[in-house]
Amino acid sequence: MILIDGKKAAAELREELKQEVAELKIKYNKVPGLTVILIGDMAPSQIYVRNKEKSANEVGLKSEVIKYPDTVEEKTVLEKIEELNNDESVSGILVQLPLPKHIDKQKVIETIAPSKDVDGFHPMNVGNLSSGYESSVPCTPLGCYLMIKKIEPNLSGKKAVVVGRSNLNGKPMTQLLLKENCTVTITHSRTKDLKAECLEADIIVAAVGIPELVKGDWVKKDAIVIDVGINKTENGLVGDVAFDEVSKVAKALTPVPGGVGPMTIACLLKNTVECFKRSQI
Ligand code: NAP
Repeated sequence: MILIDGKKAAAELREELKQEVAELKIKYNKVPGLTVILIGDMAPSQIYVRNKEKSANEVGLKSEVIKYPDTVEEKTVLEKIEELNNDESVSGILVQLPLPKHIDKQKVIETIAPSKDVDGFHPMNVGNLSSGYESSVPCTPLGCYLMIKKIEPNLSGKKAVVVGRSNLNGKPMTQLLLKENCTVTITHSRTKDLKAECLEADIIVAAVGIPELVKGDWVKKDAIVIDVGINKTENGLVGDVAFDEVSKVAKALTPVPGGVGPMTIACLLKNTVECFKRSQI
């Protein structure tokens, strides 16, 4: 079984991006810039943002974090986004989620210029992705996609089952696999027989949030299994896939932690570089 090492894959991607950023600097005399807006002081968000900033600096991006208290008015945030939309030194804007209840998430997402939407959440990018056009792609499914392609470069005709239909993970994952000519089934909480669906799959991507939902006897021999789930349990962090059981049948599997997670931030940097390149055309 191939243990898909997300840390290694992310380090390789960061190294590629570092070289690309150095080349862009020579060509355009400037580097891509990523601005993150962080509202409130929730510990996980603070950690994510710190990691994003560290990784951005590591590859040579210009990075900035704008912090607001969780009492900030929605209007102040929207005005700041407008200002960043018009700032040429900013290639990518990310507003760290979740947001305080009084701030309308969708309004925030739709205020970010689609050309600077490094999270790929703007309806214009969602539409472009589903139409098969160039777009920013949400970072977690993009990371999953890149890892699957490393294991199996030709996905044409493969059967893929995506477990979970969130806008963040399941739906964009489905679009990426469809673009690669997979036959994709997207499953969710009302799916009648999830085990039977999974048993058909050459590729399973599980993004649910239920510890070890996907069992060993749900997986076809030599399937590629990507585990997006991050679940805190008494035994520590576990994914949506029963790792020990599935590792006995799968061809390749991501661990939790150390699989999908590290690739997510690396893909944010990739999206920032792509936004910069598109803005130079
Ligand atoms: P979400 O928005 O809560 O969506 C969960 C999806 O799972 C929903 O579509 C839901 O179906 C489906 N579901 C729930 N119970 C199910 C069941 N018994 N069988 C089949 N499907 C079921 O979650 P998310 O934001 O996509 O996140 C999923 C997991 O990924 C979480 O553990 C999260 O922490 C993790 N995550 C990891 C990363 C990373 O970087 N590694 C990034 C983001 C999220 P319905 O639509 O019918 O309700």
